[in-house]
Amino acid sequence: MFENLTDKIESAFAFFNKITRLDEKQADEGLRKIRQALLESDVALSVTKKLIEDVKPKIVGQEVLKSVTPGQMIIKIVNDELTRILGSEKSDLNLSNVPPIKILVIGLQGSGKTTTTAKLAYYLQKKLSKKVLMTSLDVYRPAAQKQLEILGNDNQIKTLPIIEGQMPLEISKRALNAVSLTGDDVVIFDTAGRTQIDQQMMIELKQLESEIQPHEIILVADSLTGQDAVNIAQEFQQTVNLSSIILTRIDGDGKGGAALSMKAVTGCPIKFLATGEKINELETFYPDRIANRILGMGDVVSLVEKVAENLEQEKINEIEEDLKKGSFTFNTYLQQIRQMKKVGGMSGVLSMMPGVSKMKKQIDDANLDESLLKKQEAIILSMTHDERDNPKIIGGSRKKRIANGSGTDISMVNKLLKQHKMMTTMMKKMSKGGRGALQGMDGIPPDLLNNLK
Ligand code: GDP
Ligand code: MG
Repeated sequence: MFENLTDKIESAFAFFNKITRLDEKQADEGLRKIRQALLESDVALSVTKKLIEDVKPKIVGQEVLKSVTPGQMIIKIVNDELTRILGSEKSDLNLSNVPPIKILVIGLQGSGKTTTTAKLAYYLQKKLSKKVLMTSLDVYRPAAQKQLEILGNDNQIKTLPIIEGQMPLEISKRALNAVSLTGDDVVIFDTAGRTQIDQQMMIELKQLESEIQPHEIILVADSLTGQDAVNIAQEFQQTVNLSSIILTRIDGDGKGGAALSMKAVTGCPIKFLATGEKINELETFYPDRIANRILGMGDVVSLVEKVAENLEQEKINEIEEDLKKGSFTFNTYLQQIRQMKKVGGMSGVLSMMPGVSKMKKQIDDANLDESLLKKQEAIILSMTHDERDNPKIIGGSRKKRIANGSGTDISMVNKLLKQHKMMTTMMKKMSKGGRGALQGMDGIPPDLLNNLK
């Protein structure tokens, strides 16, 4: 469902990924691409406009963190804005009132109301251990009540017995009576829908609302109808007190824009996504996870967060300067080790960088852990400043002194020296490629990895 949107947005990000400095002209160009991607994916115009307006000042004039690319930085900014538009926090069903909790499920015909009613009941019963009664108020479509009864029977959920000829208001009174006797926690009312919004349906819903006094009125909307789903939600909202939205057919190949616009246009939170026909295909809606999914870049987002939180910018600058000059002294390496420890070791850093999954596997296989970094730190700390700057002077007796001072042994010291030599060569290659060169590499040279073990 969201793949479409993801593909489009990714190509917009590809533009930002190529640039190295951000100015207003470039920001405008990139944002125009993002705007186009959103509109083509059926995101409402008002929502798209607002998103671009809110993102722009954050991009222009934003100091790009040294260790990420402008593209990565922008993904993070757009991600935050998307999450906000989707509703920021997940919203739970309103279940905290005195039972029975009354839930009215409404929507157009074929949107998935009956199926979703059963899924909700199943979820409440199975996950939240609630006692649930389902009631069909759809007396218009032949066999509609039977459809819910069958779903109930198949999944061990109670349904109100069907009495032929009863009208929706009478049925709802009977259901309320029944739960007051059985002490059920939740009663869910499935309603009739029309193929389009009409006066009669709205009048009936209004009556049902005042009779039942629901704690939740949930609109079930078919996400495949795109922009229409949003318009429909707005129309329902004018008649009844809509409190939640469930989007169905997320498993279909719709454009995904409806999900993005719903909360922003109606103010009503999406609480679940229905992702298939089966009883358990109902997902809690988490705005941040969906934003990540849409951008397809969750890992980049957490990388930027971690970098921003943990790394000391000045230290990073120093390291970069040293590397640019092609000098990779033990002092530089010491700083690097310390920064690495902060973000969860080497594999912690690498696992979050796009395009280096290969290296991550190598590193996991090589079993490099924190203790190695600690030992290396101790060895470097036992060196004099001259030795750190110019490791060539470290001969046999110096090695012995360093090993003793760091509580390691000569073979460890040798390994570190050899590793330093290999890394110097690697860094020199990388500094020619500039920032991001790591992503272009095939992997860590095997001899370097072996030496680390
Ligand atoms: P209602 O008229 O609003 O009550 O809609 P139904 O619940 O009867 O659903 C209409 C059709 O859509 C049924 O065949 C369902 O199995 C199907 N359906 C409902 N929700 C989903 C969903 O999330 N994904 C898919 N693929 N099909 C769904
Ligand atoms: Mg139905």
